Amino acid sequence: MRQYSELKNKYADAILFFRLGDFYEMFLDDAVVASKILNITLTARNKESNVPLCGVPHHSAQIYLKRLLDAGFKVAICEQLEDPAKAKGIVKRDVVRVLTPGTIADIDVLDPRENNYLMAVTLTNSAAGVSFADISTGEFFTAELAGGETELIEEIRRVSPKELLVSAGFETSPLIKKIKDGSHDLMITIQDPARFTLKSAKGLLLEHFQISNLHSFGIENMPLAVSAAGAVLGYLIDTQKGNIKNINSPRTYTNSDSMIIDEATRRNLEIFSNISRGSREESLIEIIDLTSTPMGARELKKWLLFPLQDRHKITERQDAIEEICLKPLERRGIIEILCSINDIERLLSRTHLGSVTPRELVSLRESLQNCMELKKSLRDFSSPFMSRLKEDMADHSDLIDYLKNAIEDSPPQTIKDCGVIKQGFNKELDELRSISREGEKWMVQLEVKERSRTGIGSLKVRYNRVFGYYIDVTRANLHLVPQDYIRKQSLANSERFITQELKEFEEKIVNANERIIQLESTLFDEIRKKITEFSAPLKYLAGAVANIDVIASCAAVAVKRNYCRPRFTDRNEIVIKDGRHPVIESHIQKNGFVPNDAKIDTEENQILIITGPNMAGKSTVIRQVGLIVLLAHTGSFVPAAEVSMGIVDRIFARVGAMDELARGRSTFMVEMNETAYILRHATERSLILLDEIGRGTATFDGISIAWAVAEYIHEKIGAKTLFATHYHELTELAITKPRIKNFTISVREWNEKIIFLRKLVPGGASRSFGIQVGKLAGLPLEVVERAKEILANLEKGEFDSAGKPRIAKNTKEGGQTASQMTFFSGRDLEVIEELKKIAPEAITPIEALQILNSLKNKLKD
Ligand code: ADP
Ligand code: MG
Repeated sequence: MRQYSELKNKYADAILFFRLGDFYEMFLDDAVVASKILNITLTARNKESNVPLCGVPHHSAQIYLKRLLDAGFKVAICEQLEDPAKAKGIVKRDVVRVLTPGTIADIDVLDPRENNYLMAVTLTNSAAGVSFADISTGEFFTAELAGGETELIEEIRRVSPKELLVSAGFETSPLIKKIKDGSHDLMITIQDPARFTLKSAKGLLLEHFQISNLHSFGIENMPLAVSAAGAVLGYLIDTQKGNIKNINSPRTYTNSDSMIIDEATRRNLEIFSNISRGSREESLIEIIDLTSTPMGARELKKWLLFPLQDRHKITERQDAIEEICLKPLERRGIIEILCSINDIERLLSRTHLGSVTPRELVSLRESLQNCMELKKSLRDFSSPFMSRLKEDMADHSDLIDYLKNAIEDSPPQTIKDCGVIKQGFNKELDELRSISREGEKWMVQLEVKERSRTGIGSLKVRYNRVFGYYIDVTRANLHLVPQDYIRKQSLANSERFITQELKEFEEKIVNANERIIQLESTLFDEIRKKITEFSAPLKYLAGAVANIDVIASCAAVAVKRNYCRPRFTDRNEIVIKDGRHPVIESHIQKNGFVPNDAKIDTEENQILIITGPNMAGKSTVIRQVGLIVLLAHTGSFVPAAEVSMGIVDRIFARVGAMDELARGRSTFMVEMNETAYILRHATERSLILLDEIGRGTATFDGISIAWAVAEYIHEKIGAKTLFATHYHELTELAITKPRIKNFTISVREWNEKIIFLRKLVPGGASRSFGIQVGKLAGLPLEVVERAKEILANLEKGEFDSAGKPRIAKNTKEGGQTASQMTFFSGRDLEVIEELKKIAPEAITPIEALQILNSLKNKLKD
């Protein structure tokens, strides 16, 4: 317990997994907490001391570890550092690794399609430093981003790390609360501010990567990027006990390299998850992810998180996709090979960390072999992007051969089981094995010899783990046992003996077997180290495979769903012919989706006001424009017949408060916050999608705000905008503003029913058809009729000053409170009226004082 307490003190913020034989035990508070989370029995170490205790078997520790991490705990793994059989006194133990949500490298615990980032941030008034790394793949990024809190929070949302490192003192800042608000499962880990100082961070980076300055990383003059990267590196070294050689040198980026898509836009366009349930179903990625490897899936996500801004790079990706689209036979072959390539990146990390199993090394070897096949099958592909990827795929035949000769084709699960290393790989091992094997033969020979010597026909020579080798003689034959037999054990029906000869032999065999275990384990380590020597080229290889996979996936989607290659031009416009919503079209019966054209530019069609009844398809059409623009900037093909556009720097998509009610956010304030954000950040290169903005407040308010926002975008920003609204009053904007145009989604009325035609056409909706939709939805006829009556009154303009329909006031005239806040009461208004009547030039000072006094009296009580 003393040993335990010492370690526990060092890792106070973690649950300590204390290795005792085949178990990880937890004591005291740890045991109480963990037993609840893990649903395992809490016992006491011994009755007198009453120390709470619980434990999990070490071979199934993974699932328990995952559960603790998911519950927001860190776990320190303490192992026995020497063989208990040989240790004198208490076995030496120490913590070999601390598992935290942001530093996991185990394949079976991680989602293969997701990166698992650890991130560190620092902030000054005008810039932020961010750095993030995934120890399971080796990726390491660092950047200095212009802007303040808002930009920093956006970047945290984009990276969506599992664990965030901040400097002590930071944890109480309001920023932390904002960060936590949006990501509930994010663990925030407080670090010593010293970790973030430029000097210590730089020192750590230089030392770890063995370089003399930071020029080659491009961050020499980015103090914030350096300090964040230092914090990440320091934490990784701490938790992995220094074993982090698989971490790449840091790569830097800026916020202008990629199209910016803020969190709200990602959510509203349902890029990675649907709004209503937050799961992957019915999201864009679910439709377009046809990747075959985990590396490809993660890469595709990056393409969507960091859409390109460079036309040349986009064209290169498009060329590569087109080439593979045009070769259906090869494409199928490529995808088939990709399917047989495992997660090389993560296998490599585990090889570095030492947690890789023999079977995983076989899987790595097979994957490498398949990579070579992949390269061969790309022989005839010549687009520049693909050619570069092929160059990244070095020939690894030597390593593959080496592994093939080193490890059995289907080895046991763990190295301790023996039989992992192949015959012929190591001479000494082969010799030891033949000694061990001879044992079998020798046993049989001995049995024959002893039978004839003693005349006991049923005599057996056997081996078991507890007693080693022995000779078994049944009770009936005991009188025939010779003098030199030494009795070892008595059983019900037989007795077991050994002989001097047997003992000597046993020693030889046992020694050989022990040595085999040792040697296999040493050789396995050697093989691991050998692989890590190829770390750099293997990472390039993995990166190339990831990209090829994404390209193949884009091509497969394009063919399967009939996407087109968008054309990029210098013109600041978006022209879409027969565009479709990628997700909705896939959930609608075949050919059921009605495609729509859209043309948005900066001359005549800058702002399109889209009106139309509920359920007509307004939200769908504006989202599909957003998704097509986003996809186009990743290099992917898009769901349309024809598209041409200029580079778009940002997409903003906002949905009016009502649609977000389900998510339980404070609605109107959020809506206005987000609108304000857009008006401040959009440029004339941006695309703004506004869906029912202004709906979260009273009608007149809402219309006014919507109107003013549209005017502001028209006059001051010039951004391309789609504005879906059911306020048909907004159609009047087009009369006064030259670049605002009205569109509506056509419907037809037939027998008092409406038929949705889903076609976007010029012109405004004259009315809203809400009642017909209500009828369709099954409102009682009485309600429908009454609603029609009210509507008729409303259309005559029967509103009161608060924007409430007069029709509804029949109960108690004036009894309702106005929805608008008024600043002045009736009495105040009276005073104001009087003030207006005064002509100061016509009164004396005394009169003025008297008037002042009487006015003041009016305001009393
Ligand atoms: P609105 O925003 O006008 O109320 P939505 O865009 O939410 O309407 O569309 C309502 C439903 O209509 C969608 O869920 C979809 O099922 C269907 N829909 C929308 N656009 C189309 C289309 N172009 N073709 C076929 N069905 C569509
Ligand atoms: Mg809508």
